[in-house]
Amino acid sequence: MNIDFGSELEAFRQEVADFLDTAPTPQIREAGLKTTSVFAPFETTMAWHRILHARGWSAPAWPREYGGTGWSVEQRYIFSEEYSKRRLPPLLPNGLQMVGPLLMQLGMPEQKARYLPGILSGDDYWTQGYSEPNSGSDLASLSCAAVADGDDYVINGQKIWTTLAYKANRMFMLVRTSKEGRKQQGITFLLLERTDFPGMTIRPITGLDGTQELCEVFFDNVRVPKSGRVGEENDGWNVSKALLKFERGGSASSPSMYAKLAMIRAAAAATPSPHGGTLADDPVMQRDLGELEAEIAAFAAFEKLIISRYPSVANDPATPSINKISSSELAQRVSVLMTKVAGLQALPLQVDARKVGSATAPLGNDFELIAMPYYLNSRATTIYAGSNEIQRDLIARALFTR
Ligand SMILES: Cc1cc2nc3c(=O)[nH]c(=O)nc-3n(C[C@H](O)[C@H](O)[C@H](O)COP(=O)(O)OP(=O)(O)OC[C@H]3O[C@@H](n4cnc5c(N)ncnc54)[C@H](O)[C@@H]3O)c2cc1C
Repeated sequence: MNIDFGSELEAFRQEVADFLDTAPTPQIREAGLKTTSVFAPFETTMAWHRILHARGWSAPAWPREYGGTGWSVEQRYIFSEEYSKRRLPPLLPNGLQMVGPLLMQLGMPEQKARYLPGILSGDDYWTQGYSEPNSGSDLASLSCAAVADGDDYVINGQKIWTTLAYKANRMFMLVRTSKEGRKQQGITFLLLERTDFPGMTIRPITGLDGTQELCEVFFDNVRVPKSGRVGEENDGWNVSKALLKFERGGSASSPSMYAKLAMIRAAAAATPSPHGGTLADDPVMQRDLGELEAEIAAFAAFEKLIISRYPSVANDPATPSINKISSSELAQRVSVLMTKVAGLQALPLQVDARKVGSATAPLGNDFELIAMPYYLNSRATTIYAGSNEIQRDLIARALFTR
């Protein structure tokens, strides 16, 4: 495989670089520096989303007919490289990368017309209501129930780990509409136009890193219109699987890994070593950095392989799972090296100082501020979007059913 993003795309790279150098406000840059999760600080990142939308660049992966850039996969990779180098906050994924592409594929024309523009512009944010207290890996066992009543469904039950539900104004969810037959057959996929329907209660959950990203959502006789159903009643399992493919495939993440590696190198070069010189002079640190760089390079080659054979490799049933395992485990290794370099300085839990625009000055430097929260948050990467054990199972199934 040989992908050269060289000369003919240089003008494009420059155009992207010029915009990304000038368009973000200081607050947006601060949000990027303080991002310790897939989910960058909400309000500032949505403001940045709207700026990118005004430039026509909020949805690099969407086709032009839906307001996307229509860029080639190479252009998208370049955009991602320039974006990551500047450590700008990543746009929040649920709309742009999950429910948006799903609606393009399976939504009714009126659903596309109603919901895609708000996703594109950043006026709407969608939360994902799949998991329940007893239904995570075994998602098909979910029990949050919707009963048809005239033009509505009436929902009762609970969702959990519903990321940023308390910030979102819309929700997509799975509900049980039948207990007949196989458990996969009685599930329906619903779009909820609001997250404040009467009977809905959302409670944030504080994570290990002190931030409120996760939520639980309770439904007590919540009446929602049937027009929000995607696909047929009881066929939501197939709809949900289509969406999970987008969630696991995601966008190129090797550029952001390289950006973090550069940050670790800079921090190591600025940190005195107890043995003299800086940590960057330490042979063990040099080995760790070298190993990490080799792993990132291998992963980047994998991402470029997908790009070079798009769409055939990307559509292979095993690809999203391979991508999910590789990127999540690598993110964790990056986080381990970050905390090694930050050392004891990573220990204070600085929830206030991490907020965008905070009046609380951080103890230590910016790198030390985010190393531990990033480490703690990335424990979840091998769990969410379907745990890595489940992904390995899916790869095995894909191989054996060829
Ligand atoms: C940070 C975070 C954000 C999340 N965001 C969302 C969200 O926005 N919306 C949403 O709906 N959900 C979300 N989730 C939930 C996530 O999808 C589930 O946590 C995940 O699917 C695992 O389910 P569980 O937590 O119930 O664990 P369990 O399913 O109970 O699994 C526990 C352990 O057993 C292993 N295991 C289970 N079954 C098998 C098997 N058959 N073979 C081998 N090993 C197995 C798992 O791999 C895991 O290690 C989020 C989770 C986290 C941590």
